[in-house]
Amino acid sequence: MNLPTQLLIDGAFTAGEGEAEKVLNPSTGELLVALPEASVDQVHKAVSAARRAFDGWSETTAAERARLLLKLADAIEARAEEFARLESLNCGKPYARALGDEIPAIGDCYRFFAGAARCLNGPLAGEYLAGHTSMVRRDPVGVVGSIAPWNYPLMMAAWKIAPALAAGNTVVLKPSEQTPLSSLLLAQVAAEIFPKGVLNVITGRGASVGQPLVEHPKVAMVSLTGDVATGRKILQAASHSLKRTHLELGGKAPVIVFDDADVAAVVEGLKVFGYYNAGQDCTAACRVYAGAKVHDKLVADLTSAVRGIKMGLQDEPDVEIGPLISDRQRNRVASFVERAQSAGHMEITTGGKVRAGAGFFYEPTVIAGARQDDEIVKREVFGPVVSVTRFSDTEQAIQWANDSDYGLASSVWTQDVAKAMRVAKKLQYGCTWINTHFMLVNEMPHGGLKSSGYGKDMSLYALEDYTVPRHVMVKM
Ligand code: NAD
Repeated sequence: MNLPTQLLIDGAFTAGEGEAEKVLNPSTGELLVALPEASVDQVHKAVSAARRAFDGWSETTAAERARLLLKLADAIEARAEEFARLESLNCGKPYARALGDEIPAIGDCYRFFAGAARCLNGPLAGEYLAGHTSMVRRDPVGVVGSIAPWNYPLMMAAWKIAPALAAGNTVVLKPSEQTPLSSLLLAQVAAEIFPKGVLNVITGRGASVGQPLVEHPKVAMVSLTGDVATGRKILQAASHSLKRTHLELGGKAPVIVFDDADVAAVVEGLKVFGYYNAGQDCTAACRVYAGAKVHDKLVADLTSAVRGIKMGLQDEPDVEIGPLISDRQRNRVASFVERAQSAGHMEITTGGKVRAGAGFFYEPTVIAGARQDDEIVKREVFGPVVSVTRFSDTEQAIQWANDSDYGLASSVWTQDVAKAMRVAKKLQYGCTWINTHFMLVNEMPHGGLKSSGYGKDMSLYALEDYTVPRHVMVKM
């Protein structure tokens, strides 16, 4: 397969002039390509190109921008297999999942924002002071520096690029240094559609390429999906020029299972929602609170279901999950489980081991007997590890669920609708699912509270995040 290696700066393809970064196939650990990252000069060129392009792009009508976003959706889908192949190769994820789950959601994201660009609404123009007419405009912010993580590179690019361009901003996208390939293919496709400079794609590490992008005075807004620590660094860098920031950070999703829940449905759900993408998902259903009566059956059934998860190479038949992204990430996951094990009161009912051989595989793991103050309950693991904690009453379950630095996603499982609604109201999370988990739609916002950040992806809220409301008043 021909791997894309060129950056897109001002409509032209160019090789990175910085240090080479190794891009691996996580399923084998083999080198795919050594990709030279952007130099600081190239970062500056990309930002200047985006700034120049902003003058024209921000003057286009919503209909014109929508037309090009729809073309991009069509073009991605026309090359769906190529995109899915590259994504699965670079992330280690099952090819069928990348093709069947991710590409359709990505196409739909561009289509949603194409339509949404034409439907922004707000207060009516009117006379709020006698003799004066007021109206609200929603204008683009300017150049957006978009910084993406490695778990869903092409989807995170879509969540960032689609609302930003739909609103009339121009973008410099920096994918994760570990997973740049699908974004470079996206650059090739987008260059055929958008005027030069509207979308620029540069690759490289956070410190050497991300940081100069964030610090650039002509970048008006920075959007990050990544770690909490990275979010803090970006806020610090952005504070010098008071840039607008849009942060989507980690998560540690609580899953409250009441005694009356349909255990089979919970187990089926956790098997998918806790382990999808090898658990490298900020909404992963990883922190289960089980009612006293349902607890033992849930642990037993979940353990046998998780034993049956098929982990393997991208193209193995019926493969459900792949490896972790890197050796480093796998060591991190393994060390969380080792510390849980050595605490003494927890039981690893399945998994808990690195898979021998090539690639960065870690066995899908269930940890029973976890307590609220255990590290495994408190910290984001970002791997195929689910803990189960027994609770005694509803208030305790709510309190424990909310006792977290994170606030991204949560779920409640019960057959009592009123109870589900009462608990959902009290959960301090950007999203609460009832009798499911993990399901996202482009019409609804995705984003967190507390340390999970405050930027909203997807939905009209994202479009609003990428615009500035302005008041225009006429004295009549
Ligand atoms: P990361 O924070 O290490 O990296 C994210 C991106 O930030 C990368 O492109 C990286 O190069 C860049 N970066 C790092 N330091 C930087 C700096 N100083 N300046 C500018 N850019 C910098 O995160 P990751 O390991 O790639 O992704 C995993 C994390 O992302 C997890 O914590 C996960 O929960 C979070 N995540 C959140 C969401 C969400 O929607 N809230 C979605 C996916 C992932």
